[in-house]
Parts: sequence; C-alpha cells; structure tokens
Amino acid sequence: MTDPLPVPEEPDHVGRIRATVARFVADHCPPAARRAWDQAMTWPREVWAAFRALGFTALTVPPEHGGTGVDIPAALAVVEELSRAGPFLAGPYIHAAFYGGLNLAENGSAEQKAHWLPRLARGEAFLAYGLSEPDVGGDLASVTTRAERDGDSIRVTGVKRWCTGADWADAILTLVRSGPANERKRNLSFLLIPADARGVRLSPLAHANLRYSGSFDVVFDDVRVPEGAVLGGPSMWNRGWEQLVGRALAVERLEIAAVALGMARAALDEALAYARQRVQFGQPIARHQAIRHRLADAAARLAAARAILAAAARAVQAGQDGGLFTSMAKLFVTETALEVGLACQRVLGAYGLSDGFDMERNVRDLLGMPIVGGSSDMQRNNVAALLGL
Ligand SMILES: Cc1cc2nc3c(=O)[nH]c(=O)nc-3n(C[C@H](O)[C@H](O)[C@H](O)COP(=O)(O)OP(=O)(O)OC[C@H]3O[C@@H](n4cnc5c(N)ncnc54)[C@H](O)[C@@H]3O)c2cc1C
Repeated sequence: MTDPLPVPEEPDHVGRIRATVARFVADHCPPAARRAWDQAMTWPREVWAAFRALGFTALTVPPEHGGTGVDIPAALAVVEELSRAGPFLAGPYIHAAFYGGLNLAENGSAEQKAHWLPRLARGEAFLAYGLSEPDVGGDLASVTTRAERDGDSIRVTGVKRWCTGADWADAILTLVRSGPANERKRNLSFLLIPADARGVRLSPLAHANLRYSGSFDVVFDDVRVPEGAVLGGPSMWNRGWEQLVGRALAVERLEIAAVALGMARAALDEALAYARQRVQFGQPIARHQAIRHRLADAAARLAAARAILAAAARAVQAGQDGGLFTSMAKLFVTETALEVGLACQRVLGAYGLSDGFDMERNVRDLLGMPIVGGSSDMQRNNVAALLGL
C-alpha cells in the first residue's frame, strides 16, 4: 500500500533508508512469523543477521570506530519502519544502535569506544538498560542500587527491575549510587556490568507488551567490576547524572516515539484495508461516515505526529534541543499513536481483538508507549519547566 501520510521534509538518503527497511520488513517479517515471535516472546536471530548486513546499525557510530557517522534522523527512520512489523527487530536495533552505539559514542571512554563501538556498528553486540528499580520509576535520582570502591574494583549490590533483554545483552548499563540517598543527583554513576558476571541473578517478569524480549528483575549480589566499567572511565565516577540528562538519553524519548509512530501507522494501514473490504449493510464500511471520519482523524493526527518527531530529530541532530522538543515529541507522538491505535481497533470490530490481525498486538504495545522511557506526566513536567513555569 502507498503511504497515506505526507512525508516530512527529510534528506534524500533518509527516504532511501526508509524504502530499503520497508522492503526488508515486507520480505522477512510475514504476519505468521510476527504472531509466533509475539507468542514465544522472542526476536528472530536469523532475520537479524540478514538485517544487520544492510549496515544500518552503523548509523549511530562515528566513522573512526567503524560507523557511518551519527545520523539521528536516519536511525530513527529505521526504528519507525521496523516498528511497522512490531517490536521484533526494532527492539534489538534500539539495544544495539541507541542503548549501545549512540550512548557509547556520546559517553564512553576511549577504551570503551575502542572495545564496543566496532561490534555495535556491525550489530553484533547489545546493551540493556538497568535504570528502574522495584521502588524507582520516573524518579531516577532516588535509585538505591549501591556501588562502593574497593581498591581498583567496584562492588555492586541491589536490584534493578524491568531490565529488558538482560538475558541476551552483552552488558547492562546500570545506574548506581555511591553515597547518601539525600544527595540525590550528586553520587550517581553508570556502570557497564556484564550480564553473566558472578553474583548477577535474573528472574523474569510477565508482561503483555513489547514481547520481543523478556524483562527481568536483576539482582546484583556483591558483584565486582573493575573501575574501568564506569561509563566514560573512572573520572566519570559520581557524574552519572550528567550522562543521564545528556543527548543519548534525551534521544531515548524519540526512539520510543518512533516505535509508537511505526506501530500506529501499521494500525492505520490495517484499518484502511479492512474498511475497504468489510461489507456491512450492503456497502464497504469505508462508506459509513462514522468509519470515514474516524480514519480521516487518525491520518491527520499521525501526519502531525510524524512532523513533530521529524522536527525534534533534526533539532537533536543539530544540537539545538535542550530537552523541550524531545519531551514534546515523546508526549505528543506516544499519546496520539495510542489514541489512533484505539480508534483503528474499533474499525476492525471484533477482529481488532483477534490474533488473526496485527491490530491486537499493536494496541497492546501502544498502551505502554506513554509509560516507558519517561511517562507522559514526566514529559509534561519537563515541558512546563522549560516553558519557565
Ligand atoms: C515492557 C517494559 C519494558 C521496560 N524496560 C525497561 C528497561 O529495559 N530498563 C529500565 O530501566 N526500565 C524499563 N521499564 C520501566 C519503565 O521505564 C518505567 O515503567 C517508566 O520509567 C515509568 O516508571 P513506573 O512504571 O515505575 O511509574 P512511576 O514512576 O511509579 O509512575 C506512576 C504514575 O505516577 C505518575 N507520576 C510519577 N511521578 C510523577 C510526577 N512527578 N508528576 C506527575 N506524575 C507523576 C506517572 O506518570 C505514572 O502515571 C520497562 C517497562 C515496561 C512495561
């Protein structure tokens, strides 16, 4: 089907990348496979091997480390197009290109860049994020996972929650605290902890959305890592907050927005096709005004979501964000995508709840988008503060 939405202003090479990814997804991710991956809560390693050969995991890595240069709009276009087939390739792409590539390109020490970036650029390595804890969600300055210097090593004790991909990632980027809790942002650090380090234990959490992977409680029971495991090297000890509010993590908002946009576009495509072929009361339901208006609203709203995401991606690439555009985009795109998904689900009637269509999975995944990666309320707080309120 041709794209029903206006394409935002973007460079020609991004358009070509979109087209290549869309063709790849159409060839390699048929509906039956998507259903099977969702049920098995997994992502397809053999399809990933073919995908990474296209070279798009290099889009967040500088050329001196084996990448093609940091190109955030292009990498987000990859996420959006992959997400039209669900989270099964978009998830691993984010773990390699963003959690790994962009993060280490922005924040890694020289040794960490040399060690990780070439493999990340080839799509051969993945990071998981260990931010949330049982008692910590949006308020990341209150994390309790404890880290103590012990000679030239660091000992870690605590629990991270919702750590997606902890069982297949090469390392968990873990936010830890080294001093009193009331110092909040002043004694936080990020550590790169191998997921198979001695003292790391995983226990799976059940969840209905984003079933490309399991998510885990990760228990760190007196885990030891060398001081070189501090993200950015030992000089970044107790400076994790600077990294947390830096560009790599601001872009996480846009990754989630791109996932949501891709899924909502898939929901719209499915609803448009269904409305044309489903006949009730002697005519395709697309002839009933209630359905036509619902779909017209959905298309208009997604066009706006696409435009704000593209504008935010350009601003971040140019170093002109400061948090306002990324928060606005996360808020608007994920909330809009969810509302569009729910409207499109109605168009399919009972079939919108059946596993014979992608709709049911897309809506399940879209429900989580305004929550993960900083909830809508947190984005509103950011926007209000940046508006000077
Ligand atoms: C499938 C899945 C995968 C995930 N993967 C990861 C992962 O890999 N790594 C990771 O670290 N985390 C992960 N998460 C956790 C996710 O990032 C958190 O759920 C998210 O940050 C929100 O935290 P919370 O759910 O604990 O909500 P809370 O922060 O407890 O918030 C609960 C409610 O209160 C509201 N609220 C909280 N504070 C404020 C405030 N100041 N003002 C207004 N409203 C407020 C929130 O908007 C929300 O509605 C995952 C979650 C899911 C569901």
